[in-house]
Amino acid sequence: MRSSHAEATRNLLQPLGAFCGKAAGKLSDFILPPLCLVCRSPVLGHGGLCATCWPGIDFIERPRCDVLGIPLPFPSDETVVSAAALADPPDYDRARAVARYDGVMRELIHGIKYGDRHEGVKLFCLWMKHAGDDVLEDTDLLVPVPLARMRLWSRRFNQSALLARALSRARDIPDNPFALKRIRWTASQVGLSTEQRKQNVAGAFQVPEAQHAGILDQNIVLIDDVITTGATANACAKALKRAGAARVDVLARARVVDPLTPRL
Ligand SMILES: [Zn+2]
Repeated sequence: MRSSHAEATRNLLQPLGAFCGKAAGKLSDFILPPLCLVCRSPVLGHGGLCATCWPGIDFIERPRCDVLGIPLPFPSDETVVSAAALADPPDYDRARAVARYDGVMRELIHGIKYGDRHEGVKLFCLWMKHAGDDVLEDTDLLVPVPLARMRLWSRRFNQSALLARALSRARDIPDNPFALKRIRWTASQVGLSTEQRKQNVAGAFQVPEAQHAGILDQNIVLIDDVITTGATANACAKALKRAGAARVDVLARARVVDPLTPRL
């Protein structure tokens, strides 16, 4: 008798709960209307861009260098490796990035990095799944580039770790934010030359002893923020390969591309 009463009460409350849920959704849209992630003008749904900002993103599509992931200045259906990659081969195997790091993309990343906006994660996860469609094939593990502890405190979260977790769920690939560790403090890379960047991060990363077994013979995709000269990605790839990784590819939100590279 008692349990049937409880069931009747639950049945009565379920539609009320559903109604409250829907009402709360509408209410939150009213209190926090969806805004463009870049310019904060009203848009139709949360976590998107407005019609003015959207065309300002220079997505990197094929044809691109198979190693560096930079756009190529000529059309090609073949797998092409750029002269830059042949002249100075990186320590990682292949890099992919969603878009050029300029204009709207720069504003979007800067806003999310320093503005504590988790709402961009869904959008970037979608874009990164597309940009990294080939490198995510046959991948065993996603490893985010770790932030220095001081920077983690000031920003409160590691964007690359959030993206690795979102991609892990979306592609059903395990992620491990503890596979790489910063073993020494590094100055911010902003404003440094290519050579200075290389020296700044050389030997800064290590795979902790306890993580070696999980890295051995694994195909890894390193989740990075912005590839500028590739110095950080290289230092991380070196550490992962030293620990026995079979392959290390990089998937980033954006990469710096020579502005003289024409847009096809
Ligand atoms: Zn906008």
